[in-house]
Amino acid sequence: MNQKTSAPARIARDRFRRPLRSLRLSVTDRCNLRCQYCMPEAEYVWLPRKDLLSFEETEFLTERFVALGVRRVRITGGEPLIRPQLPGLVARIAAVAGVEDLALTTNGVLLAPQAAPLAEAGLHRITVSLDTLRPDRFRELTRRDDLPRVREGIRAARNAGLTPLKLDTVMIRGLNDDEVTDLFEFASAEDAEVRFIEYMDVGGATGWRPDLVFPAEAIREAMARRYGGIEPVAGQDPAAPARRYRVPDGRVFGVIASVTEPFCRTCDRSRITADGRWYRCLYAADGLDLRGPIRDGASPAEIEALIASTWGDRTDRGAEERAELDRRETLVPLTDLRADPHLEMHTRGG
Ligand code: SAM
Ligand code: SF4
Ligand code: SF4
Repeated sequence: MNQKTSAPARIARDRFRRPLRSLRLSVTDRCNLRCQYCMPEAEYVWLPRKDLLSFEETEFLTERFVALGVRRVRITGGEPLIRPQLPGLVARIAAVAGVEDLALTTNGVLLAPQAAPLAEAGLHRITVSLDTLRPDRFRELTRRDDLPRVREGIRAARNAGLTPLKLDTVMIRGLNDDEVTDLFEFASAEDAEVRFIEYMDVGGATGWRPDLVFPAEAIREAMARRYGGIEPVAGQDPAAPARRYRVPDGRVFGVIASVTEPFCRTCDRSRITADGRWYRCLYAADGLDLRGPIRDGASPAEIEALIASTWGDRTDRGAEERAELDRRETLVPLTDLRADPHLEMHTRGG
């Protein structure tokens, strides 16, 4: 944890009194994998490179959000490790007074050589996304043959001290739901905590169907069948997306039940795309362009006022609204996704 904590001048709150605490910074929309649940299509429309925020602009925006209450920052993508000179950006964000927790989510393919430079730059911890331990399945799921590199990356992150290390696993019925306990054992052996995520019907997930969701309840049952009674961990952060459970020998796993047990009422998260568009919800159709005002020379106070008033109007509860639908299909039609890359999960970050 960073010691440079200072009380924010003000904490922005939305219409439901939810504070602005957590910021996900997507640093690229491009990726070196093609996970079926995130990028199932053959072709994608990319954000124009000239539109990407520079490191200076990203640092400037981070400072504005921290002034309004943000304390946790997560770097994501696309695949963040393909952004050139990423440790330079990490160093800038780590140096922003008030950033208490600086994490990064990666698919791990390029992690082994970058783990130590990222740690030296000031990154605190890493989450690696890993959905299967089987090479053939990995290839089927991601359309690449990179499982050995991901495993190497996980080890490198641990050795570099980027801990507590987490592994995020999207569970898909009929695809990897037979690996719940194998992934838990693998994570334990790597000194990591696995978090099982329900397959979400976010933008970009064009192959989503309700019957492919392997629900939290089934995950807990699979764990209980193998290990005996599982208990919720005491004193959990209510704003954290994962509910954590302990097996009888004391080891812990998490479940992110965004589909069957949504947790919008405590959501303090928002996201900035690599080209500076700010989304107050993963499911939001529209975001606020922050790059334009920055490049037009808006002052720090003007940008903070814009962010504070936009957050003040927030009523988003996307996952809860989706759960209330009688009939649930993919969120965004393919033609709309092709017309606006901002609707994609890989543009918005997870
Ligand atoms: N490329 C990096 C990675 O995979 O870790 C970071 C970006 S990725 C968009 C962030 C997270 O979103 C990953 O853990 C991924 O598994 C998750 N994700 C993507 N599509 C999803 C979906 N349809 N349902 C649930 N999680 C999803
Ligand atoms: Fe997979 Fe992450 Fe790339 Fe999406 S952005 S295709 S989840 S590695
Ligand atoms: Fe937050 Fe939107 Fe996710 Fe609900 S769906 S938890 S409001 S980001």
